[in-house]
Amino acid sequence: MHKIKQLYKAKKRLISSDLPTSDRRLVLVFRFVQVTILLNLINILYLSISQSVDDYLPLFVLLLFPLFIVEYINRLVKCGQRRKSINIFLGLALVILPFVVWFEGGLLSPTIIMIPAFVMFAALYATFRDFVVTVTILTIAVFIVCLNGIYGWLPSNPAHQLSGFPRLIATFIATVTSVYVTWAIGTDLHVALKEVDTEHEQVKKSQSRVEALSQFDLLTGLHNRKSSKDIFNKMFLELDKTRQRMVFFFIDLDSFKSINDLFDHSAGDEVIITIADRIQLAVPEGTIVGRMGGDEFTAFLVVDKDFDEDKLAKKILKYISKKHHLFGSPAAVTASIGVASSNEDSFDLLLKKADMAMYLTKNKEKNGYHHYTAELEKKHMKNTIIQDQLKDSLKQELFELHYQPKIDIHTNETIGVEALIRWVKNNPNNYGPGEFMPVMESTKLVHDIGDWVIKEACKTGKHWHDLGHPLTMAVNVSSKQLTNDAFAEQVKAILEVTKFPPEYLQIELTEQFLINENEIVNKQLESLKRLGVSLAIDDFGTGYSNIGYLTRLNVDALKIDQSFVRQLSDPDGICSVIRAITKTAKVMGMKVVMEGIETPYELEQVAELGCDIGQGYLWSKPKPASQLLEQLSSFGKTPFDMPQLS
Ligand code: C2E
Ligand code: MG
Ligand code: MG
Repeated sequence: MHKIKQLYKAKKRLISSDLPTSDRRLVLVFRFVQVTILLNLINILYLSISQSVDDYLPLFVLLLFPLFIVEYINRLVKCGQRRKSINIFLGLALVILPFVVWFEGGLLSPTIIMIPAFVMFAALYATFRDFVVTVTILTIAVFIVCLNGIYGWLPSNPAHQLSGFPRLIATFIATVTSVYVTWAIGTDLHVALKEVDTEHEQVKKSQSRVEALSQFDLLTGLHNRKSSKDIFNKMFLELDKTRQRMVFFFIDLDSFKSINDLFDHSAGDEVIITIADRIQLAVPEGTIVGRMGGDEFTAFLVVDKDFDEDKLAKKILKYISKKHHLFGSPAAVTASIGVASSNEDSFDLLLKKADMAMYLTKNKEKNGYHHYTAELEKKHMKNTIIQDQLKDSLKQELFELHYQPKIDIHTNETIGVEALIRWVKNNPNNYGPGEFMPVMESTKLVHDIGDWVIKEACKTGKHWHDLGHPLTMAVNVSSKQLTNDAFAEQVKAILEVTKFPPEYLQIELTEQFLINENEIVNKQLESLKRLGVSLAIDDFGTGYSNIGYLTRLNVDALKIDQSFVRQLSDPDGICSVIRAITKTAKVMGMKVVMEGIETPYELEQVAELGCDIGQGYLWSKPKPASQLLEQLSSFGKTPFDMPQLS
């Protein structure tokens, strides 16, 4: 009883110990085998007392050793030598089992009951090779022992053939041992199979999760690119091409990067989630909304041919730009949208087209939308070619500056020049600045090229000054250049290096970018003014200038866009506009320059309308510095052989 208690305690100890479950089970089986041996020993002791000690002594001794060997095996398991312990146990059983079967008279031995349990044990715990060897030897040994029982080659003592109570006890012990070992092994198998089932379930679950992940964007739950494409293809197959088409929207948030920079990425995530919800709210049922990554979304749907996609684009823009709270403060996000539509194009093609249209929006006004057109594609291709060609343009000295004179209309004197960039080498389609400068402005190259233009112009200006032609030098500066907060400093450095007097340098800014006041730009312009550099507003009349802003900036000249001159042949409407501009400009202390004067008639008209300065082919086309200098030197102050206006 005490031993059983101890065993129970040992079992508890073992269960709570650090041994792996299968080792703990092994130890329990071994313990049970020890108990079995012990009970058998008691049974034998009883028999030897009641019958003859000599008859049972060999068996008693033979079973006494395994009791200790199994104890040793148990320790081996605890020391982590599992394989060794199993092999010793199997070897031990191979010796004991056939001997006991022989001893007990062969076929009728109750010990035979234990053989299947032993085989099961070997199958579960031994390696395959050890299992095969053990079972083969055991089968042969037991077979021989049983044959021996029949033929009596080595007869055991007939007294050993148990009968009565000892046989009952021996059979009982063998049965209980077999049942326990089979139960223990069976339970382990059962648990193992259950674990396999659970694992299988988990694998299935994670498989479907992986599948879901491969279809949806993790952050927003919207379709990802792959899933969007799959759905698009299905919708496309069912499209009734005679009356339906697919409409595709490419939506890209404006200045999303600054949200990430200003706040942090979690704020960015919050915005993305909000926008995703809003797009879904804005679109009609059946629209597939997806996130292509970053701040790019798509939405597509099947529509009838007369569907109004402009209305939907506006609705999406309206929903996106609604105010929302970002970390407690109100914020508004806008988006640029590209729209493409077709009943033939694949997903990839429509996406590309809508993307192209989106870029147009982004480069123009933002917070708006544009449709894809074939023309847009041509332009896109052209831009790509230009960008490729211009990559190393500065190093390769692809550019030159040409100069066009500015003439005082009243005195016919050349008072200055405008420097205009020319792409003179490797220019595939003879692109002019009006075509390649906007492309350049979409890259960082604009800063280097811009600096180069100012430096070249100042160098030329200084050279002419030294030769006795004190002309004003006007350079065109793109809005992008002014967003560089070191711009004014760079201009200052150039003026110092070239020794060109600042008051002779004029910066021409297009009216377009003055529409949006910008703090960095304002600062740069103020610094330039402090340097003594003058400012002119180019292409005036094409956009919307805030007159108050122009006054604050202390602009020196307005250059009226040449489209006005082109309309002078129909003078009724345009003349009053030009007159109004010149009057206002003069009140504000600005000079008025008229660009694009080509004919004496135009000159006469603009002089009459109050313009001070003229520029145009009438006097000269833009020319390389050397040619213009030649003309200046031969004609002097009125170089272009023009009659003085009366
Ligand atoms: P802009 O600054 O308004 O320059 C005047 C444009 O009108 C020049 O075109 C000039 O060649 C052209 N022009 C002058 N007189 C006449 C005329 O009588 N008739 C006609 N039809 N055209 C005349 P260009 O050189 O092709 O330059 C186009 C635009 O490219 C410029 O317009 C300016 O905005 C930009 N650009 C030129 N050079 C530079 C530069 O160095 N930097 C920057 N950022 N932009 C430049
Ligand atoms: Mg200009
Ligand atoms: Mg202009």
